[in-house]
Parts: sequence; structure tokens; C-alpha cells
Amino acid sequence: MRFDVVTLFPDMFGAVSGQGVTGRAFKHGLWELGLWNPRDFTHDVHRTVDDRPYGGGPGMVMLADPLEQAVLAAQSRRPRPASVMLMSPAGKRFDQAMAQSLVDEGGSILVCGRYEGVDQRFIERCVTHEVSMGDFVLSGGEIPAMAIMDAAVRLLPGALNDADSARQDSFNDALTGLLDSPHYTRPEDYKGQGVPAELLSGHHAKIAAWRREQSLALTWRRRPDLLEQARRAGLLSKADEKFLARLERDAEH
Ligand code: SAH
Repeated sequence: MRFDVVTLFPDMFGAVSGQGVTGRAFKHGLWELGLWNPRDFTHDVHRTVDDRPYGGGPGMVMLADPLEQAVLAAQSRRPRPASVMLMSPAGKRFDQAMAQSLVDEGGSILVCGRYEGVDQRFIERCVTHEVSMGDFVLSGGEIPAMAIMDAAVRLLPGALNDADSARQDSFNDALTGLLDSPHYTRPEDYKGQGVPAELLSGHHAKIAAWRREQSLALTWRRRPDLLEQARRAGLLSKADEKFLARLERDAEH
């Protein structure tokens, strides 16, 4: 998998290539990172990457040409043409399914906006997808790009130490589609609060059943939309449905 990132702030990306799970995977060569600064594709003495918006108004807009040149340079370093994803609050909301398809495609080119955004003609000429982190406005696309890469890299075989920890994650829908159950570690008594007895039982089936029910109950309370999705995808067993029916009944009383 390879990501190429078009950004005015390439130094920020040491956060993913140098640290933690994604940093270790990078060191082991599980993924590659190319950084492309639009400033390196300017031809004037000031190395201009932005200008005032036509029609007036506050802020600056990123010039189309340095962005296009950076994307072309990135494409030329890839084995085959990749999708070009612009970070944008107007894009499709990023989710786990998109992370998985990035893995399946072998990565992509991520373009980070700054200032008020980028010239629309660059979007029309070069961008294949627009992706949003959610309904809030950040000052740049770098943190969204890092979030996307992190979500994809941790799905790569061998990226996580314990092969099971990706399987248990929330949203890993191929397997559960539910929110994760709560976690506990030592000490057994923390300021008077204990650990659920099931987790101390040493009984694997009992522990698995407890975790499943916790997942179901949390998803039912917080994200009924995910529960409905899991149901439609055929991911809920008879035992799950029985437990959910009990939750519904208890709630009515
Ligand atoms: N004027 C724009 C905001 C620009 S913020 C607007 O009102 O929609 C500057 C850059 O930050 C954007 O070009 C985009 O690349 C990035 N950005 C900001 N919020 C984002 C979000 N929620 N998801 C993805 N990218 C975002």
C-alpha cells in the first residue's frame, strides 16, 4: 500500500510514519508514503501557492496549477493511476468501509486543502473523490489525511501486534458491525470499583457471551442505526436477537 499526500505541511506527517502502530508498519515496509509540496511546483520567486478569491471575501484560495503538478508528479511514482481524494467538509463522510477499500486499492493520493480551500477547477480536473471527517471545519486537510492513513494501515495484515485486536474493533463490520465492548485491566479493584465477574471467570465461552451482549447493548443504546445495518447484513444471531428483545422489553418497564 502506498499513500501520496499533497500538502503545504509535509513535516506534520512524521506523526503517522514515525510513531505507534502506523510508524512500526512503516518501518517494516508494510506501506509507503510520498509527500508532495505544491510549493515545489511553483515557478515564481515567491513560490506562490495561493491568491485572493475572485468575487472578493476573506481568506485565500489555493492555486490550481501547483496542486495539479503535485498530483501528476505523485501519479508518476505509482505503479498504476490512483484515486485522488480531496479532504473537504463537502465530501462523503469517511468510514470503515472506505478504509477497507483503500487497502484493497493499494492506497491513494490524498490532497490537503488549506486557507479557504482550493480552486474549483483543480477539483474538476484532478479529484476523483471528496472525503470529509465529519460536520466540523478544520484549518487544513492534514489531520483528516493522517486519520485516513491510520485507519487503512491498521487493517494491513501484520500491522497490529495481536492479530485479534483489529477483529474486535468497533465498526469492523465484516465480522460484527457493532461497537466494541468495555475493556478492563489491572488492578482488579480500582478505588472501590471492581471488574465484571464474567471477565474474571476464566470461562472463555462465558467471556465471549458477556462481550457480545455488552457490544449489543451499547450499540442498541448509542447507535441503533449500526444495529439495523448489522441486522440487514445478517450479522445478528438468534441469541443476539433474543438478547435485544429482552433489552426492548426491559426498557418498556
Ligand atoms: N472554506 C471551507 C473550509 C476550508 S478549511 C468551508 O467552509 O467548507 C481548509 C481545508 O481544511 C479544506 O480545504 C479541507 O482540505 C480541510 N478540512 C476542513 N474541515 C474538514 C473536514 N471536516 N473534513 C475534511 N477536510 C477538512
